[in-house]
Amino acid sequence: MDLQKLTKNRLLIKDIFSKNKKNVEIVGWVHQTRSLGKIRFLLLRDISGIVQITGLKTKVPGKVFEIMDKISRESVIYVRGEVVESKQAPGGKEIIPNEIEVLATADELPIDVLDFSKTELPKRLDYRFLDLHRRRIQAIFRIQSTIIQGFREFMIKEGAVECAFPSIISSSSEGGTELFEAKYFEKKAYLSQSCQLYKQMLACSMEKVFALFTVWRAEKHNTIRHLNESRQLDYEQAFADEFVVMDVLARCVKYIIKKILEENKEDLESLGVKLKVPKTKYLTFAEVSDIMKKSKIPMGKDDLSGEAEKKLGELFPDTIVFVHDWPISGKPFYIMPKGEKLSRGFDAIYKGMEISSGGQRIHIPELLEKRLKEKGLKPKDFKSYIDSFRYGAPPHAGWGVGLERLTMLILDLPNIREACLFPRDRDRLVP
Ligand code: ATP
Ligand code: MG
Repeated sequence: MDLQKLTKNRLLIKDIFSKNKKNVEIVGWVHQTRSLGKIRFLLLRDISGIVQITGLKTKVPGKVFEIMDKISRESVIYVRGEVVESKQAPGGKEIIPNEIEVLATADELPIDVLDFSKTELPKRLDYRFLDLHRRRIQAIFRIQSTIIQGFREFMIKEGAVECAFPSIISSSSEGGTELFEAKYFEKKAYLSQSCQLYKQMLACSMEKVFALFTVWRAEKHNTIRHLNESRQLDYEQAFADEFVVMDVLARCVKYIIKKILEENKEDLESLGVKLKVPKTKYLTFAEVSDIMKKSKIPMGKDDLSGEAEKKLGELFPDTIVFVHDWPISGKPFYIMPKGEKLSRGFDAIYKGMEISSGGQRIHIPELLEKRLKEKGLKPKDFKSYIDSFRYGAPPHAGWGVGLERLTMLILDLPNIREACLFPRDRDRLVP
């Protein structure tokens, strides 16, 4: 097959229906086959759509009929043929083939690509490359691409600079223990669990910075909302407190969702998702505690429970709920205190689940040392981080949103693994 010639001459299947072209060259995957006496039907699918190829034994070349008779589902073929009107064919048009070339023959399929409901998620993930033949699955990742592009566009319009940060670090960035160890020559190193410290250092000179950053967390739990490798949409801004960056986050998510509504209409339809641009609601942690007490929903003294997040989703549908004035004991050491007991940290809840944590950071070295000690951590382990604030560091704030978490919630997916191309969890390293 001359692929350069094909690139010039090929028509996308959707254009068969919108353009009036008589002789066409198309390529794609064999979606379905059917035979009826002396006729062979074949549905051909490419990235843009599906069309019926109809071969009558007495009308098409012998070799073409033979291929149509034998070809297995999901095999890849080239078809040159004539477009004809047809009342019975899906979309009202079909192709009468003059030539078919087999580009790749598919083995017997281990999962049913036609009927999505027949295979459990773990098996589908074992064959993710084949799972991705499904248009429904492609829709998820086309929308994820829009999320990433929307994030970039929004941030560039805000005047932020996109940054690339290191993924191998010498010690924990947050003092937690859930780190994957890596061998780094003679030293022990770790895979990054967030770009927190780096984006802070950068905001202290570049003012507004953002990144799409991969993080690794060696948490052993197996839930529908956690992965061991995930990607984060990160933002950090100088001369800002938590309210300044909550507003940026609200506008950012709205921008992304508007963009999906504009650019992914068909994808949303094929997923059956009714999406709305969310509203915004601000509540203090104490207010949320009161609401939960009245509804008899348990929650921690310094953290929301999963049930409390769910309740917020029910009470405020299609709303980004910002919970601020968070108890300092429930936030990491680098979050700025607000009085004795509270902090300038917040969580954002959307459709009943956390999509983001953020807040104003501590930019004062002495205060950082004090907070580290209060958290039972050793300031000397964070020396280079603390020192970075000794030479003119402005007050600053920021947040991080999980890309897969946000995708899952926007599309009402039942499991975060559905929103990750190749998920890494406790049991999965392949494919
Ligand atoms: P959660 O309470 O949901 O476990 P977290 O508070 O531990 O999340 P943060 O450290 O605040 O998470 O991370 C910022 C954002 O990154 C979260 O709001 C979430 O959207 C996403 N995120 C965090 N951990 C994971 C994970 N293990 N897998 C996928 N996304 C995650
Ligand atoms: Mg959090």
